[in-house]
Amino acid sequence: MDFEIQHEDLFRDLKIDCKNCFGLCCVSLYFSKSEGFPTDKEAKEPCINLEPDFRCKVHSKLLDKGLKGCISYDCFGAGQKVSRDIYKEKDWLQNPELANEIFEVFCIINKLHEMLWYLKSIFSAEELNGNPIKNELERLIKETENLTNLNPLSILNIDIVSQRYTVNSILKKARDVLIKGNTKVKNPPLGAIKEIAGRLDLVGKDLKKTSLNELDLAGALLMAADVRGNNLKHTNLIGADLRDTDIRGTNLSKTLFITQGQVNTAIGDSTTILPPWIDRPPNW
Ligand code: SF4
Repeated sequence: MDFEIQHEDLFRDLKIDCKNCFGLCCVSLYFSKSEGFPTDKEAKEPCINLEPDFRCKVHSKLLDKGLKGCISYDCFGAGQKVSRDIYKEKDWLQNPELANEIFEVFCIINKLHEMLWYLKSIFSAEELNGNPIKNELERLIKETENLTNLNPLSILNIDIVSQRYTVNSILKKARDVLIKGNTKVKNPPLGAIKEIAGRLDLVGKDLKKTSLNELDLAGALLMAADVRGNNLKHTNLIGADLRDTDIRGTNLSKTLFITQGQVNTAIGDSTTILPPWIDRPPNW
């Protein structure tokens, strides 16, 4: 691959494309009202707002209705991959005998595409150019992409736990190279911070002047935190909750493992600096 850096090609298949999807996330997944979805619903039941043509009845009003769960959800392109490429436009409504299988395949492809997003985003870090870790990342990207091209029954037999373990190991290794082994394990600039269910509790904190570079904020709860004007260079945000986090004027261009879904739920504007593979939300 020529990575001088062809972000568009690299991430194209990992971006949400609802018009080429049979509403798979709105059916396949369990969700609850308390997490910002319209209702509590079981997996494999269509959302009350899903139309027969697989469009969302309230899509243009998700923000006004406070449906943050829908806004933050990111299938990483699994929806169109399953609908268009794997099932060749056979949808679950017209082919009910395939419905369960389609939903299960979607959930696995979603996880593989999420892994690809993280692998490709750290692969794109220019600071790693010339380091042998790039070859390891490239090999694992290809291996993971190959898994997504299997037939449905083979996809259902993928050992996703083992694949995730392999991916997480190399992500950690690549991150260590980037931060040159600077493992501020306890994130000292943050002082003594409580944890909620193993996640750093930074809800509502004023972090404008706190040095967040290189910190490990994986899974951190940053809801409504104020990060305006800060620089999150090599900060690990994998799985962090950024709902209503104020990132106006914040430099996220080299933040690690940030996703489109996280950005969509944060408060940003034209002065927020994003990695080139993340789209600026239309409401900013
Ligand atoms: S409200 Fe719309 S986007 Fe959200 S789950 Fe329902 S159909 Fe999908």
